[in-house]
Parts: sequence; C-alpha cells; structure tokens
Amino acid sequence: MANRRKLVVGNWKMNGRLTSGLNLAKDVADKASAQKPLAFDVVLCPPATLIWPVAEVVAGSPVMLGAQNGHAANHGAYTGEISAGMLADLGCRYVILGHSERRAAQGETSAMVAEKIAAAQLAGLIAILCVGETQEQRASGAAETAVARQVSESLPEKFDASKLVVAYEPVWAIGSGELPTLDDIRRIHKAIRKTLGPVGEMVQVLYGGSVAPSNAGPILAEPEVDGVLVGSASLNSDGFWAIAEKCR
Ligand code: PEP
Repeated sequence: MANRRKLVVGNWKMNGRLTSGLNLAKDVADKASAQKPLAFDVVLCPPATLIWPVAEVVAGSPVMLGAQNGHAANHGAYTGEISAGMLADLGCRYVILGHSERRAAQGETSAMVAEKIAAAQLAGLIAILCVGETQEQRASGAAETAVARQVSESLPEKFDASKLVVAYEPVWAIGSGELPTLDDIRRIHKAIRKTLGPVGEMVQVLYGGSVAPSNAGPILAEPEVDGVLVGSASLNSDGFWAIAEKCR
C-alpha cells in the first residue's frame, strides 16, 4: 500500500471575523509549531475575507492555507468571484471544490466542478474534491454508485493526481451528528480509489461529516482514511487540535 500522509483540513465555512478568525488561526498555528516537525499535515480554510490575514498569522508554522471555492476562469468579468490564481497569490496551497453545500445552494454541477479543478491545478493548487451521497441514495443502497459517478464526473479529462485530494462527505452526515459505520467509510473509500484508477493508491482520500474529538480516533486509525475534513469542530482550536492529534 502507498505511504500516504494524513491530512486534517478545517473548513470554517462562512464563520469568523477578523479578531475571532485570527485568534483561532494563531491558536492552531501555535499548537502545530509546538509539535514541529508535524507527523501529519494541517490546512485551514477560512472564508475568503480572512485568507490574507490568516496567511500572515500561520506564516512560519507548519499550518497550510486553503480556500473554500475558486472560479474556473483565471480573470475577467466575473463580479464577486475569486480565481485560483488569486488564491495561489495569497499563499493558498489547497482549495475545497464541489462541497455539497455549494452543489445544493449554488447549483454547482459536477461538470462545473471539473472545470474548477482544472483551473486550480493549473494555478498550482491542490484541489480537495468533495463527493458524497444523499440520504435518499443511501436509503436505496445506491451510495457507492452515486459517489463513484460523482468522482468521475467531477474530474477533468486530464488531472494531476499529485494535486488531488478526495473528501468523502456523505451529505446526510454533514452537520447532523450522524456518521457512517467504519465499514461503510472503508467500502466507499475503496470505491473512490477504484474509480480513480491506477493513481487511486497515491491520492489521499479523506472522510468528512460530523467529525469530532469523540469520534475521530477510530476513523483516523482506519488505513483507508488518509485524514479528515472538519466543519463545525474546526471552529474551536482545542477541539480541532484534539482531532488532528488522533493522526499520530
Ligand atoms: C463539511 O461541511 O465539510 C463538514 C465536514 O461539516 P461538519 O464537520 O460540520 O459536519
């Protein structure tokens, strides 16, 4: 089996003001710096307004920076949008793409996500592709097929596997406190790798959805799980770090 490094990503979503966001980032950076060299990778994805100030706070620490979305075009007349090149310019290394909240609320299709991944990789960013089945798909036993289809439809024809992370985030598990069984996580992660083809063994596949300090241990101990994407629990530095430490 490939030697994949564990990765913990905090998705702050639309949370954090200047003071609270910078305090949170500083706390995480301090905890990470105290354990240098880190045995795992840590990425913070603040809202766009905080990317630059957070970049200054985490500079010199092992904490890396990511964004929550990026546009498919490099520049131009796209009011309110931010391109992958702009994110790279601010020091982002990662960008979350195809999150289920954007697929549902902004009508992002897998074809649109594929264009965004191509643009992100071209700008040198590592794309974190989010996929996951709905409650209905799960109930009808179609989770594996739905996720596999989403993976293949969300990837550009040509993609760079070294700049790709896939996050398995069941839609029903996000923010609900409910989690799939470890068997289910293992099964879907294997299906994701199979869909990726020969490069599947080198791509990090994360789990996301209601990860908390109380449940992260067994999830991160699972060899198929290369890390976690954390939403609400990433808004508290102690809780987020308690999750991250389960990577050790
Ligand atoms: C997410 O939305 O990416 C997520 C993982 O959320 P939560 O941890 O709050 O379920």
